[in-house]
Amino acid sequence: MDQEKIGRFIQKRRKEKKLTQSELAEKLNITDRSVSKWENGICLPDAGTMPKLCKILNISINDLFSGEIVDMKNNEKKLEENLLEMAKLKEEKDKQLLKLEFVIGYISSVTFLILIFVASFVEMETWLRITLIIIGLIIFAFGLGHAVKIEQTAGYYECPECNYKYVPTYKSVLWAQHIGRTRKMKCPKCGKKSWQKKVISK
Ligand SMILES: [Zn+2]
Repeated sequence: MDQEKIGRFIQKRRKEKKLTQSELAEKLNITDRSVSKWENGICLPDAGTMPKLCKILNISINDLFSGEIVDMKNNEKKLEENLLEMAKLKEEKDKQLLKLEFVIGYISSVTFLILIFVASFVEMETWLRITLIIIGLIIFAFGLGHAVKIEQTAGYYECPECNYKYVPTYKSVLWAQHIGRTRKMKCPKCGKKSWQKKVISK
């Protein structure tokens, strides 16, 4: 996907519709800075804005991703290319997220341990000791909650029984027994409980 080409395309269509950046932004309920970012190829419109943008510019989503009006003959081929590209982008993002999960988990665990250690062994008033322990617990719970959220939403879990890949609920991930990222969960398709591995692509 060529962001710069898409940006130039959005700009061209906007001008053909005789809209300024701020007029387009107003129609979409966003800032004109966002429009300028798209047109300069810095970022793409988010998924929620795309349908309305395409409607205003009178183009299809497929045209938008291609950065040009796709003629009917090439339509299917282009669509396939764009879908593949989107899947690749999602995989990249999921990989980054899982790295972030590790960092969050690591930092919050280490901070927790340091605070508990200090509270246990350093001379201080009781109230300060209790405060440190509470802060430690909050950081730990927050870090853990956040890490589990990332693990739930990034990529998929694969059932070893039927090879079904799916995104489980937050609750089932949070309470599942786990070894690293492999979790013991019930498969929503075959209903069997098994150790399910995290996979990036579907
Ligand atoms: Zn299954």
